Amino acid sequence: MIPSTKNISSRRGSYHRDWIETILIFLLFLCVIPSLVIPSQAYGGRPSERDVRNFLNSLDKRCVEYGWTDIAPRKIRWEFHRTTGSKNPLIFIQLGNSEKYCNLFLGGVHGDELPTVYLLLRLAHHLEENHHLFKDKCIVIAPLVNPDGFFAKTPKRVNASGIDINRNFPTKDWNTKALRQWKRKCQANKRYYPGKKPGSEQETLFQMALIKRYRPQKILSIHSPLSFYDFDGPSSDLDTLERWLDRISRETNHPFKKFGFFPGSLGNYAGHERNIFTLTLELPSSDPRMGTAFFQKFQPAFLKFLNLSIPAR
Ligand SMILES: [Zn+2]
Repeated sequence: MIPSTKNISSRRGSYHRDWIETILIFLLFLCVIPSLVIPSQAYGGRPSERDVRNFLNSLDKRCVEYGWTDIAPRKIRWEFHRTTGSKNPLIFIQLGNSEKYCNLFLGGVHGDELPTVYLLLRLAHHLEENHHLFKDKCIVIAPLVNPDGFFAKTPKRVNASGIDINRNFPTKDWNTKALRQWKRKCQANKRYYPGKKPGSEQETLFQMALIKRYRPQKILSIHSPLSFYDFDGPSSDLDTLERWLDRISRETNHPFKKFGFFPGSLGNYAGHERNIFTLTLELPSSDPRMGTAFFQKFQPAFLKFLNLSIPAR
């Protein structure tokens, strides 16, 4: 039987519909596949305002638990663009004139070094209340670089993936030395695990992004409880900087040691490889109740750090 013209055109119509359906299914497939392969978009992405509000409320509560009742993190206008593995926002604030040479303050890199977080929250409050201290300066404060470790049931040094953020920077010696040194020198102690590859963690990328965006001339990173000052940075200004640090060490009655740097550490990445004056302040204790006493002791050093001028290179 010869098919009628009507039958042929209706068959052509259904043939075209089949093709359109196939193309639509294919496009849908292309949209769905990335979400199956790439981990949750929330990881690393910008947190919602609600997530940040909840986070700051939790931080306020934790401050009260630790006796840090003279600060209220939710009252500070934080910036946030990234989240950690546990979906905590990575917060920071920029104060003063961003056109000037920048000073970057980092705290809570190791989540169990509790007073380091207090010191920088308190410094952020202090500077917000004393605008004259920074009107001709640029200051960036990131008080809690590792919130996952800080908010863990028992606060811990590493992040949610078990990685030491201060061993995860993509330094030139990372591939050859980081894991080898961790196994040999640290006896594979989990507290110092550098990760499978450098720059794998949002907390590391966060600090790298701050360095890239603000091009700080000076970085002050606060840790505990080794109790000393250490610095890495431009060797051409070594004498000036060592003399300055000697004086600060005497004035604050806190020793100065050359501790060196590690594969993947901030001192290596920023100080050694990028010639940024990178001062590490190791507080004498990780006891959160010491927060206020440490702030009083080291506040003069913070302000002198801000006023320290390093010749432009
Ligand atoms: Zn530390």
